[in-house]
Amino acid sequence: MKMKFLPLALTAFLTVGTVISPITPAARTAQAADTVKKEHNIAHSFKSERAYATVSQLSEKIGPRVAGTAAEKKSALLLAAAFKKQKLDVSVQTFGIPDRLEGALTANGHDIPLRAASGSVPTPNEGLTAPLFDAGLGYPEDFTADSEGKIALISRGELTFYEKAKNAAAAGAKAVIIYNNADSTVPFTPNLSGHTVDIPVVGIKKEDGTALLTQKEATLQLKAFTNQTSQNIIGVRKPKHVKNPGIVYVTAHYDSVPSSPGANDNASGTSVMLEMARILKKIPSDKEIRFIAFGAEELGLLGSNEYVNRLSEQEAGRSIVNFNLDMVGTSWESATELYVNTVDGASNLVWQSSKAAAGKLGFNHLSLKKGGSSDHVPFHGAGIDSANFIWGDPETGAVEPWYHTPNDSIKHVSKERLQQAGEIVTASLYHVIKKETKHSETKKKKQVEAKDKFEDFK
Ligand SMILES: [Zn+2]
Repeated sequence: MKMKFLPLALTAFLTVGTVISPITPAARTAQAADTVKKEHNIAHSFKSERAYATVSQLSEKIGPRVAGTAAEKKSALLLAAAFKKQKLDVSVQTFGIPDRLEGALTANGHDIPLRAASGSVPTPNEGLTAPLFDAGLGYPEDFTADSEGKIALISRGELTFYEKAKNAAAAGAKAVIIYNNADSTVPFTPNLSGHTVDIPVVGIKKEDGTALLTQKEATLQLKAFTNQTSQNIIGVRKPKHVKNPGIVYVTAHYDSVPSSPGANDNASGTSVMLEMARILKKIPSDKEIRFIAFGAEELGLLGSNEYVNRLSEQEAGRSIVNFNLDMVGTSWESATELYVNTVDGASNLVWQSSKAAAGKLGFNHLSLKKGGSSDHVPFHGAGIDSANFIWGDPETGAVEPWYHTPNDSIKHVSKERLQQAGEIVTASLYHVIKKETKHSETKKKKQVEAKDKFEDFK
């Protein structure tokens, strides 16, 4: 890539520390101490109280923010206003999202989380209430004359999802619920492999299937959502008097899965990003900083893919690094490790700068890990150093048990974890964006003075 020298220069910068050369060793020591102090000050000006207030606005006041819905759009407006308040240049990038089915399943007054099968049809608008029929694994012989007009409850396994659905439809079932044959925290999505049946088909968790076997009837409602749009909210700060500056991205998705308030996933990352924008607006930088709140992440990283695909070759060439925040506020006791997930598991500028920042802040629970599943993936695909920050179990890397459930609410968000993640990411971003001095001998002294003046941080 054209501008590859930028990351290399920065890497060298991080490895050797401050490259401005004061004349004497004593001066150098004094300046190094000063830099560490500044970094501490900057990190500690992160206020988790503020981030927590944003988590509350998004997850409690607005609630679930499913891509394409009015709630997602309302959140987008809120974020655009928040970016404006931080003096960022705000723009909105709108994009179409695929048609899909979403709905609800209830039995005996309980809501059961579901995923519509890809290839399913919707239910009638008012939903469909019918007796349940235990159809085993869904073989033709598992159905009887009694299954007609009922909702077939079928276990996953042996047959394809399409075969099960086809057999149920042939037996006159009104709908098909396939329950998992292994434990999972979230429902699975059956795929009809390009076939269609003319009755609704959904997937649910094993435990919910087992519970449904004891119930008499259920109500299923699947609605079609077509021609919807989602949007990315972009807040940019450009350096003055720098031609073609390097670009640094701080990103987080603000959409959620259905029926989840999405407090940790990912009002937490969005809120930390906003708080960083507040702090960093006072830091002189020769980099262009782009804060981006992505929509439609939960539908398959749609917002970030759209964004990266629309980058011009010139912009991609100037792009240095992407810090992505996804699930940085969990209160789950076991999630004591802050993971820096890179797509290939290899060290890059995000890891190097966050490792350095953690060292200076005395934080010993930072690990490099291989991991995708968030908005850093498209940046990696475009050759930009990227990583996602996420809390997990230090042994297994597992995330909180209420991931993608209605329990992902603010009562499971920890101010302390928001604070720790916020400090680390803010300090590591500072490493990357702070103004670098040129290696010109004649300008050096002036720049040292100017830098000291500019970087006084309150
Ligand atoms: Zn997420």
